Amino acid sequence: MKKIAIIGSGIAGMTSAYLLSKKYNVTVFEKNNYIGGHTATVEVEMGGQTLAVDTGFIVFNDRTYPLFEKLLAQIGIDRKPTEMSFSVHNLDTGFEYNGHTLATLFAQKRNILRPKFWHLLWQIVRFNRICKDIYHSGEYEQALTLGQFLDRHNFNDFFRNHYILPMGAAIWSTSIKKMNDFGIEFFIKFFFNHGLLDITNRPQWYVIPGGSKQYIDPLVNEFKDNIVLNAEISSVQRLQDKVKILFSNGDVQEFDKVVFACHSDQALSLLGDASEAERQVLGAIPYTANSVVLHTDESLLPVRKAAWASWNYRLDNNTDRAAVVTYQMNILQGIESQLPLCVTLNCDDAIDENKVLRRFTYHHPVFNSESLAAQQRRTEINGVNSSYFCGAYWYNGFHEDGVRSAVDVARLLDVEF
Ligand SMILES: Cc1cc2nc3c(=O)[nH]c(=O)nc-3n(C[C@H](O)[C@H](O)[C@H](O)COP(=O)(O)OP(=O)(O)OC[C@H]3O[C@@H](n4cnc5c(N)ncnc54)[C@H](O)[C@@H]3O)c2cc1C
Repeated sequence: MKKIAIIGSGIAGMTSAYLLSKKYNVTVFEKNNYIGGHTATVEVEMGGQTLAVDTGFIVFNDRTYPLFEKLLAQIGIDRKPTEMSFSVHNLDTGFEYNGHTLATLFAQKRNILRPKFWHLLWQIVRFNRICKDIYHSGEYEQALTLGQFLDRHNFNDFFRNHYILPMGAAIWSTSIKKMNDFGIEFFIKFFFNHGLLDITNRPQWYVIPGGSKQYIDPLVNEFKDNIVLNAEISSVQRLQDKVKILFSNGDVQEFDKVVFACHSDQALSLLGDASEAERQVLGAIPYTANSVVLHTDESLLPVRKAAWASWNYRLDNNTDRAAVVTYQMNILQGIESQLPLCVTLNCDDAIDENKVLRRFTYHHPVFNSESLAAQQRRTEINGVNSSYFCGAYWYNGFHEDGVRSAVDVARLLDVEF
């Protein structure tokens, strides 16, 4: 039986190992001391209870996650409906709203009398209509960015800064400024497919009862004895029909093939003998670091409790900073707890130190015109030189994308899902 090394145990690595282990002898190498990558549920002791809180991957839906849902069904994992709502809280002006229902839209009563707010609602409807028309016609203006698109259609700053840019920045963990550079075609397709251009008819979102890590054990069950944690790989060398994995303690192991299920930049850094195409393609899809804090400090949420949403954007006048988003985990996971459980991205300084439960750093792929062009060149490196590449970065950066890219790799190795 041919031997395959898989580097990384996030959803992409676990799915490729799950599929490839049906036909090959797989070994998964993971540099962390746990399996799962961004599937990272932690346990919190509070009020005499042990609570399982997701700090990375949390939600998926019934429209744009078909492969992930198929995988969950195969391994017998349940899902439970959740609410996906979005609030914006402007620190400088105190303006806030939660788009979930009519009542939460006007959680701040003053909004009823604000012509700017009514104009914002009207612009949301106009934006959705224009984008849907473009989606249906298929007539995207190539190379147009979201910022240029907003200029062209005369959307004002209030709409940009309190709706579309924060929402995009929250989704891709980037800054409001960088959101302007997103390609309009990529943006419209994503928003359309996720029902974000509709006020009604949105997909139903789900979480995994007991935390997302619940799916890990059944998914890795068939190959769990072949997972090496705390692996310190120093480099990967490709020889004629063989792959050598070199470890920092001097050990060397040989395989027939290698699947890089780590991030694009991590894969490139392991390839001492990277080809020109690998350097160009992987090098054009960078990742950025995001700090993530699990805490109980409700000052990161909107002032009015009725405006608390599952995703809460904290806006200030610095459009360069990465999105400050707080996931309200009680709403998302349906957890009842003594204190509110929050996961905040990119805002270490504002969180009361006494209310911090855990700190993490996770990395997100950067999507710009260069990285989108590089995605299209995947076939130049995938399956070439006994090397395969999977990870959410090949598509939109989400869990479905991790699964999809792993299914692509399995297919190249003659294993169907
Ligand atoms: C805070 C946060 C919340 C998110 N929420 C959602 C969500 O709700 N829904 C959703 O769909 N997506 C969400 N995402 C996106 C998430 O990144 C993807 O869904 C997906 O989990 C990424 O999977 P992956 O396998 O590509 O990468 P990862 O999960 O990052 O896995 C890569 C693995 O490779 C390992 N690795 C790296 N280098 C090496 C090496 N040299 N040797 C060995 N191992 C190595 C890493 O340690 C890691 O375990 C979220 C991301 C973050 C950061």
